[in-house]
Amino acid sequence: MKDYKINTKCVQGGYTPGNGEPRQIPIIQSTTFKYATSEDMGRLFDLEAEGYFYTRLQNPTNDMVANKICELEGGSAAMLTSSGQAANFYAVFNIATCGDHVVASNSIYGGTYNLFAVTMKKMGIDFTFVSPDASEEELSAAFRPNTKAMFGETIANPALTVLDIEKFARVAHAHGVPLIVDNTFPTPVNCRPIEWGADIVTHSTTKYMDGHAAGVGGCIVDGGKFDWMKYADKFPGLCTPDDSYHGITYAEKFGMGGAYITKATAQLMRDFGSIQSPQNAFLLNLGLESLHVRVKRHCENAMAVASFLQKHDKVSYVNYCGLETDKYHALAEKYLPDGSCGVVSFGVKGGRKAAETFMKNLKLGAIETHVADARTCCLHPASATHRQMTDEELEACGVYPDLVRYSCGIEDAEDLIADLAQALDSIS
Ligand SMILES: *Cc1c(COP(=O)(O)O)cnc(C)c1O
Repeated sequence: MKDYKINTKCVQGGYTPGNGEPRQIPIIQSTTFKYATSEDMGRLFDLEAEGYFYTRLQNPTNDMVANKICELEGGSAAMLTSSGQAANFYAVFNIATCGDHVVASNSIYGGTYNLFAVTMKKMGIDFTFVSPDASEEELSAAFRPNTKAMFGETIANPALTVLDIEKFARVAHAHGVPLIVDNTFPTPVNCRPIEWGADIVTHSTTKYMDGHAAGVGGCIVDGGKFDWMKYADKFPGLCTPDDSYHGITYAEKFGMGGAYITKATAQLMRDFGSIQSPQNAFLLNLGLESLHVRVKRHCENAMAVASFLQKHDKVSYVNYCGLETDKYHALAEKYLPDGSCGVVSFGVKGGRKAAETFMKNLKLGAIETHVADARTCCLHPASATHRQMTDEELEACGVYPDLVRYSCGIEDAEDLIADLAQALDSIS
């Protein structure tokens, strides 16, 4: 599939049936797999042979779908997880442990911020949050001798800032650590961070990849270009024998292309078990088959909606990097030339109360803690997803109290605009 265009990979990547085999990917709904001898099974446990033995570690359906996403991102190996949260947790915890430090953009999904700043902090991992707009010098100043990774979101949910991936990659690599990029919003159809220097890409497949609000899921893709052995003292988990796994040294045995995902599977999936169900992986693959068609329509609708909102006198500001006036337009032209995403955010004049009136009067746009669905949905973060944050924390990550996040579905743009117009008119 490597030489095909992204549209073809969406449809046919990850699985090529042999003669007489099912055209659609089979759902291997089995927790376990049978072997003729104990020796056969032993070789699998020693990671000496490839094969399946227990679905908590690996399942063929999941692997077919992970392979498709791997091909879409241009990576060397990939794995599915039960959620985007699990993907980001594993992606960082696979290389950072108690006593380590990570530099992360402060413009990230609220759930990821909480995971890092609260839960992983309790596990002894320290995070320094930096502005995605900071200079290379400012970003460098956040690094410590025990820093193990850098993290950012290509297009941040919900602030819609655009990450300068090359800048972040340069700083991360100058300090001998990989750059992890959450690429949920643009999807590989609109941006492939590995091509710009990112080392590891994560996804909440719950969003555009599934696209129909059917299943929660996540994915981690390794670009296979980070030389762990070059910084062996920083990454003992990859570069010294794993006593919990028969003394294997992942970076030696599986090389740059395979070490990271093999360790995350053999160690983290084994111990934490955040596996995606094969049934959900099948649904995710159905979504992926039309990802390129849907993403294009999401972006067209968002552009039309953003242009309408920008001219409306009850709207105080609009964030959408497709707009020429947007602060991130230049970065979007570089990293997202074919479109960004279907999510637009904007401020309603009159603040929190006006935003609530507007939301209540929407008919097509449904109030949901969700984005990136075929059906248009909408959220007021300050009273929902971000309600645990103080006003100062909200402002620091660009989520103001009057901000509405509007996720354009793939309905007709004229209907969406008419719905927005009548809801804005309802504000007195
Ligand atoms: C939703 C989201 C997540 C979390 O994913 P879940 O599948 O809900 O666990 C992580 N990152 C981004 C950018 C998201 O939008």
